[in-house]
Amino acid sequence: MEHQPISRREGDGPSLAPVWVATAAPGPDLAPLATEVEAEVLVIGGGIAGMTTALHLAEAGVDTVLLEAGQPGDQATGWSGGLIAPDYIRHTPETIGPVLGRLRGERLTRMIGGSARAVFDLIARHGIDCDARQDGFYTPAHTEHLAQNQRSYANQWQSRGYDVSFVEARDARHRFGVERYCGALRFGEGGSINPLGYVRGIARAALGQGARLFAQSPVEALAFEGGRWIARTPGGAVSARRVVLAANGGNAALHPALKRTVLPLNVIQFATAPLSASQRETILPEGGAFTDKVPYLFTARLDAQGHLISAFPMSFLVTGGKAHLREAERRLKQHFAAMPDPRIDYIWHGLAQVNSSFLPELYDLGDGALAIQADNGRGIGINTQLGIEVATAIATNSREQLSVVPRTPHPIRLHAGATLLPKLLMSMARMSN
Ligand SMILES: Cc1cc2nc3c(=O)[nH]c(=O)nc-3n(C[C@H](O)[C@H](O)[C@H](O)COP(=O)(O)OP(=O)(O)OC[C@H]3O[C@@H](n4cnc5c(N)ncnc54)[C@H](O)[C@@H]3O)c2cc1C
Repeated sequence: MEHQPISRREGDGPSLAPVWVATAAPGPDLAPLATEVEAEVLVIGGGIAGMTTALHLAEAGVDTVLLEAGQPGDQATGWSGGLIAPDYIRHTPETIGPVLGRLRGERLTRMIGGSARAVFDLIARHGIDCDARQDGFYTPAHTEHLAQNQRSYANQWQSRGYDVSFVEARDARHRFGVERYCGALRFGEGGSINPLGYVRGIARAALGQGARLFAQSPVEALAFEGGRWIARTPGGAVSARRVVLAANGGNAALHPALKRTVLPLNVIQFATAPLSASQRETILPEGGAFTDKVPYLFTARLDAQGHLISAFPMSFLVTGGKAHLREAERRLKQHFAAMPDPRIDYIWHGLAQVNSSFLPELYDLGDGALAIQADNGRGIGINTQLGIEVATAIATNSREQLSVVPRTPHPIRLHAGATLLPKLLMSMARMSN
């Protein structure tokens, strides 16, 4: 199916909604909860974590209700860049062992390394219309030192059976249309999707498997009463034996133990006007998506309509809509010689929730309640995997399948001050960029 973007009117500024709102296939019509219902499992949150959990619970024959405050994908999932990146953020397959122990480390490496495959398999299995492009995810190296390290990271992944290789500088420059990189790590199973189309497609599949999904149904109170979890929304209530909290930034309001476990990472995401034919010859000519390792990171991918989608982290130095737009243009010019005069058609503000380890977390809240807290600005693939694993664990009553061991939540120390940290660090990073 072809989806035409809503084009910008001549003379107007860019749209402030994600490009995906204009280009994603429509989602299912979901009614708000308007009565009292019972279920075996209640899932709270209709982003990628909650929706994947609900789909796989329903597929396993578990009676499942999902409550979403807005519409599926309304928050981080639908605001994201849609890059499918089967890599650690801060670690490698070798450095994770000393942190988690060898066996748990290898288990997590298998989960993260397999997360792109899980996404594209799910899309194929359910025929999801979401511009799926499994054409490689790259982490370009901005220094020779990093390039040297990446050659060994490639070996670490390859020795574990993954399609990961190091692309030398000349080849990398050709693949990206960017002159500044010294090479890049290439994850062959990665790529990109339309993330809003993806989560909407999973919602359709979950409905097809018998899950009951309710939109515009924010959980205002969650309590464990008489051996069951009771969630109250403005229009009704759900009583369930078990609950999965997949509300990401909303989790903290649902259970006191989840307060102060994450920090806000504000990101400005943007999409250009469709590239011209000559720009397409030099900018990502073979497709693929990349996110570099510069602290003030740069990222790029294309979509079906030819928009180039990129992002920059918010700092205290670039504030206000006009400044954001100028910064987006500056970053494109800085990287792509073929884009001397970029036009931005969409620019939107996204909010990711990061924890202090940058590793995926499952929290055991007791009484049959689990929380998925694994955004970290890189959660499309990982939260797909966690959703599948959490559903399997519940359906089989066994935690054997879990790559992440559920633990008791630990609040981040000095949380109130720490919430300023991401913007502070990004301000420092911006100064040297
Ligand atoms: C700007 C930006 C760019 C990103 N780019 C990428 C990328 O390119 N690749 C990648 O892998 N990751 C990316 N990420 C991260 C990725 O989007 C997240 O990790 C992932 O979408 C998190 O999924 P989730 O389901 O946990 O959370 P969310 O998508 O935030 O879903 C949580 C849902 O819970 C609902 N909710 C909240 N409170 C309640 C309540 N009380 N009752 C009912 N429902 C509630 C919300 O409405 C929301 O729909 C990006 C994030 C941002 C913000």
